[in-house]
Amino acid sequence: FPKLSSIDEKKISIKGKDYFIDDFEIIAGPCSIEDEQVMDEICSFLKDNDIKILRGGAFKPRTSPYSFQGGGITSLEIMKKYSEKYDLITLTEALGFDSFEIVRDITDIIQIGSRNSQNFELLKLVGKQKKPVLLKRGFMNTIEEFLFSAEYIASEGNKNIILCERGIRTFEPSTRNTLDLNSIVMISQNLKVPIVSDPSHAAGRRDLIEKLSYSSFWAGADGIMLEIHPNPEKAISDGQQTIDFKTLEKIIKKIKGFEEQN
Ligand code: PEP
Ligand code: MN
Repeated sequence: FPKLSSIDEKKISIKGKDYFIDDFEIIAGPCSIEDEQVMDEICSFLKDNDIKILRGGAFKPRTSPYSFQGGGITSLEIMKKYSEKYDLITLTEALGFDSFEIVRDITDIIQIGSRNSQNFELLKLVGKQKKPVLLKRGFMNTIEEFLFSAEYIASEGNKNIILCERGIRTFEPSTRNTLDLNSIVMISQNLKVPIVSDPSHAAGRRDLIEKLSYSSFWAGADGIMLEIHPNPEKAISDGQQTIDFKTLEKIIKKIKGFEEQN
């Protein structure tokens, strides 16, 4: 199994505190950051449920150029305002070079998306930063290629890397991608790097999210990242795979039970 030569500690420091050592972390939020009202509701829900990390897209990698491309800087400002109100850690994607600095300066964790997973110049740039990085697996990448992408970041000096399995493209048309539980088992058994699972983008449909979250926990994931919305049907992007608050409450409750068993 390929090694990650430059990382040997499962510990991510965010704003001076350490995460992913023992706790199973839940990262949740909308696919795209929407208006202030929706953000307030989401952040308030996260706070009430002791979820520490808010996700939300502002610069979005959309398949079609005619789809909503994200709210950009306005969205980042909304994210900042409500993450401060509810004392949450933020995670958003750095999509490209032009917007890189503005994203980096505002967010606590920089996400590198699936489509940029082998954008080596961007990986090197993010490797030079002090903030933690969540690196998503390219949907056409092998586990070894995924780990080499992480090496690009680590070799530049940034060892604060959270890997994210978000599903790979297979021949199966009934789901958006196929969640590769193998990679979660293999990475968690062999390497000292946190790996979180993203069932939302892996499945692409909300009816699979709950069970895939439990499967990810038992596969050895260090956390899950889920798209949530107070009214998923109305979400501005990825509504079909977005779950409501009640479903996430159920997932949290069950996982807490698993943690006690474990
Ligand atoms: C996302 O998490 O916002 C996203 C676009 O996911 P991915 O890069 O995995 O498609
Ligand atoms: Mn999405």
